Amino acid sequence: MLVKFEHATKRYPPNTAAAEDVTLTIAKDEFVSLVGRSGAGKSTLLKLLVGEEKPSSGKVFLGSTDVGELEPQEFPAHRRRIGAIFQDFRLLLGRNVFENVAFAMEVTGRATSEIKTVVPQALDLVGLAGKERRFPKELSGGEKQRVAIARALVHDPEVIMADEPTGNLDPVTAWDIVRLLERINAIAGTAVILATHDKDVVNALRKRVVVIDRGRIVRDDPEGRYTL
Ligand code: ADP
Repeated sequence: MLVKFEHATKRYPPNTAAAEDVTLTIAKDEFVSLVGRSGAGKSTLLKLLVGEEKPSSGKVFLGSTDVGELEPQEFPAHRRRIGAIFQDFRLLLGRNVFENVAFAMEVTGRATSEIKTVVPQALDLVGLAGKERRFPKELSGGEKQRVAIARALVHDPEVIMADEPTGNLDPVTAWDIVRLLERINAIAGTAVILATHDKDVVNALRKRVVVIDRGRIVRDDPEGRYTL
């Protein structure tokens, strides 16, 4: 299993159980939607996986790595194993499309020659070939999210973690972005964890749905619908 939560609990003072005894496994080629109301605990599970938060009890694994036991110097390499995408895109506004994607490689010291090969491949995959020189303000919301996806791909992640990636998009664009994630999952075999409260998207996907409510998994359905 690629991702494994073993009785993972995360409590915030004074008494919020953001994750409560979560046991969950995700295989390396799976596409899983993590659904639930706002505040249900979706982001908390993602933060436990990237190591941004440590479980109060229980364990979280990515492959054989016990995320809660990582040393600070191990975090950068751990995070490169996870391609993270967010609702607010998190692009560098002063850099163009190419530079936004290239930057993720520059900070890890990848060779310029490699950057010149990998960035266009990633942009091509997400459908942004020809828009390399545009700045974020010259892009639609859907295009911005495509840049973020390209950036998430350059380290060849084992899992793509998307936290409400369609939250700022209209329904048609939202669906395009989810289809892109679905395609990456199918072509590259990259696992995808899609945290969302977008009912239409989840119901149209017909893939595994894990429902979270008040920090607990209340349903795990291989071809689920969102009925909360
Ligand atoms: P979701 O992503 O489903 O909207 P979250 O995982 O962000 O839910 O939040 C789960 C619960 O944990 C909520 O009640 C939220 O208020 C609480 N919570 C999240 N982060 C913190 C924090 N840093 N400090 C205290 N409470 C938090």
